[in-house]
Amino acid sequence: MGKILIFGHKNPDTDSICSSIVMQYLQETINEESEAVRLGKINKETEYALNYFNVEKPRMIESIEEGQEVILVDHNEFAQSVNGIEKAKILKVFDHHRIDDFKTEQPLFYYSEPVGCTGTILYKIHKMNNLEVNPTMAGLMLSAIISDTLLFKSPTCTEIDKIIAKELAKIANVDINTYGLELLKAGTDLDDLSEKELINLDAKEFEKNGIKYEIAQINTVSIEDVLKRQEELEQEINDEISKKGLDLFVFAITDILNSNSEIISLGNKAKIVEKAFGKELKDNRAFLEGVVSRKKQLLPEIDKTID
Ligand code: MG
Ligand code: MG
Ligand code: MG
Repeated sequence: MGKILIFGHKNPDTDSICSSIVMQYLQETINEESEAVRLGKINKETEYALNYFNVEKPRMIESIEEGQEVILVDHNEFAQSVNGIEKAKILKVFDHHRIDDFKTEQPLFYYSEPVGCTGTILYKIHKMNNLEVNPTMAGLMLSAIISDTLLFKSPTCTEIDKIIAKELAKIANVDINTYGLELLKAGTDLDDLSEKELINLDAKEFEKNGIKYEIAQINTVSIEDVLKRQEELEQEINDEISKKGLDLFVFAITDILNSNSEIISLGNKAKIVEKAFGKELKDNRAFLEGVVSRKKQLLPEIDKTID
C-alpha cells in the first residue's frame, strides 16, 4: 500500500523535519520506498537550515488513512502525532523522549536513547550500518542537534551529542559556532508572527489523570520584547484553552543567550506551576532561572505536581 510515510511531531521543530528527511535517505539505502512528510508549518529556524543546505521542505499532511505504514521520528506520544495514528501501522520509531501511552498491534523496530536529539541517533544508525554520511544529511543532522540542545547549552545535551556534532560539522564543512548562532538567531525572528502563531510555534499537548495541558515554548534574545505582547498572547492562550478544553497552558519564553525562561501560566490549574517550581505567579508570570528545556525541566516538574 503505497509509500511509507515518515514524520516528526505536530508543530514540527528542526529535529522533526531534518530527521524525517535523513530517515527518508536511510530508507532509500535499504530500498524501502518512503516519503518524509510534515505535520505543520516550517519555522524560520528550520527554513534557515533547509535553505543553507539546499534541501526541499517535505510535503504537509493533515491526517493518514487506516493501515498506512509509518515511521515516527522525534516523538512517540499519540497526542503529538498525526490524526489517525491509532489506526496506522507503525513500522519504526527513532526517538529521544519519554515513552507514554505507546501501543502497537504488530512487532516493530523501536530505537530510543536519552540523548539530546534524534539527529544524534540517526548518525549512530549510519555507523551501525557502515554507511558513509552524505554532507547534506550531515548538515541536517547537525542543525537538528544545534536546535535541540540550544548549541549544547541545554541540560538535555550529552557528551555524545557534542562529539557527533563535531564530526557532522566536519563532514558538512561548517563552523559549529558561527553556523549554530546564525541558525538559532533565525529562529528568534518572531516579529511577523501573530500571537496565535507564537503560542502554536512549538506547542506540545500532554495529559495526566484526565488533566489536559499544553506546554509551548519560543526562543528569543529578549524576553522583554516578547512580553510587550503579553496581553494579546494571553487572549490567544485563553482562546486555545476553551477551544481544546485544556486545564493548563504554560507558555515558556526562553532567552537562548542567558539560558533562562519566563513562563506565562493560564487555565484553571495555572497555579500548579507555583508548586512545581516554588515560585509565585505575578501577573500570571514567573521567571525560571536556568530553565531552558521542556523535556527535562518543565514537563517532569509539572507532570509530577499533577495528581
Ligand atoms: Mg522535537
Ligand atoms: Mg528532538
Ligand atoms: Mg524542542
